[in-house]
Amino acid sequence: MSYQVDITIVGAGVIGLAIASQVAREGREVYVLEKNETFGQEASSRNSEVIHSGIYYPKDSLKATTCVEGNALLYELCQKHGIGHKKIGKIVVATDDAEVNELEKFWERGRGNGVNGLRMLSQQELRKLEPNITGIAAIFSPSTGIIDSWTLMSYFVGKAGDNGAHVAYRTAVVGVDKTPGGYKVSVEDRDGYFCFATKVLINCAGLQSDKVAGMVGIDIAEAGYKLHYCRGEYFSVGGGKSKLVSRLIYPVPKAGEAGLGIHVNFDLGGRMRLGPNADYVDTIDYRVDDSQKRAFYESAAKFLPFIAYDDLEPEMVGIRAKLQAGGEDFRDFVISHECDRGLPGFVSLIGIESPGLTRAPAIAQYVGKLVEEVLHNC
Ligand SMILES: Cc1cc2nc3c(=O)[nH]c(=O)nc-3n(C[C@H](O)[C@H](O)[C@H](O)COP(=O)(O)OP(=O)(O)OC[C@H]3O[C@@H](n4cnc5c(N)ncnc54)[C@H](O)[C@@H]3O)c2cc1C
Repeated sequence: MSYQVDITIVGAGVIGLAIASQVAREGREVYVLEKNETFGQEASSRNSEVIHSGIYYPKDSLKATTCVEGNALLYELCQKHGIGHKKIGKIVVATDDAEVNELEKFWERGRGNGVNGLRMLSQQELRKLEPNITGIAAIFSPSTGIIDSWTLMSYFVGKAGDNGAHVAYRTAVVGVDKTPGGYKVSVEDRDGYFCFATKVLINCAGLQSDKVAGMVGIDIAEAGYKLHYCRGEYFSVGGGKSKLVSRLIYPVPKAGEAGLGIHVNFDLGGRMRLGPNADYVDTIDYRVDDSQKRAFYESAAKFLPFIAYDDLEPEMVGIRAKLQAGGEDFRDFVISHECDRGLPGFVSLIGIESPGLTRAPAIAQYVGKLVEEVLHNC
């Protein structure tokens, strides 16, 4: 094992790439290892591409604070580097009195989290903004938007490469062992199996991040790192219906629900989609289950009266890496330098579910600072 690098990042999703672009610099050997053929083939390209504002998450949670921070950073990055985005705004719509009560709670929470410009809308105000949807009250979030996640990731790959980082595709990490100076990383690629040494290892392996933590000897059950897969399907909406609303439209999330509820989202070309639903599963399978179409239609028709069953076509599936199992309470993301477990230089990012895309630049800054401290003390 003669080859030695400074920093190894496992996973070329938006999180690993954002971190690589943050920590790469001249004179430093940084490698990103990705088991797939290219970057962003998992959660980072199978999501709603929404730049969230931070309404839903409990005050002072990492999800809340860095969502608000990530929202501002992401718009700044997009404007500066020509990354496709639109600040189209979002409406969370209540369709009965019980939902209005819940809506008010989310409004308070969003304001407490520091979300800018949130407004409660009466039925008349809602009708003025979105005449084709059904609802009796709503929250309007003007700082919510959409982004082209592929261009964002391409930007991070380019910046990391310009600063000397290497991204190795079709390279799966299969083992990690603690050594006196850092870690021995065992990988498998097209040519077989090899090992190298790294001072710092950053685990951004998304759905497999609990397994990568297990490779270095962390007891994932004891640490609370066991991930639960939660599948989300999308159906596209045809029939010219996308012209009938101009903002992202969300229902009021139900207590105990694993997602935000099936909502209207758009890509930058203006194509309308419904999704995602939220079903806990044991295996990763990206085939859309057509039999969900009826449930999607019924759920959306409550606030989108113009939708017809035949407008819906199966589109894609994304799988969330959740720390909480079905029915369990809120769990925050884990970002941890594992020094206290006797693993200095090993950084875990576990359970980076939504709003992970929004948060990517904020996470990169946070982990960047951590890594500078680690390298300084190594
Ligand atoms: C249905 C859905 C909707 C969402 N909607 C939004 C949204 O609208 N807005 C938002 O902000 N966020 C959203 N998210 C969350 C966001 O997509 C994720 O938080 C983010 O993409 C996570 O990025 P990641 O890099 O951690 O994971 P991933 O993109 O999954 O990347 C992990 C990478 O690690 C690689 N890997 C794993 N194991 C190994 C190994 N052993 N060796 C080498 N490589 C390995 C994988 O191949 C993968 O490429 C959504 C997520 C889902 C699933």
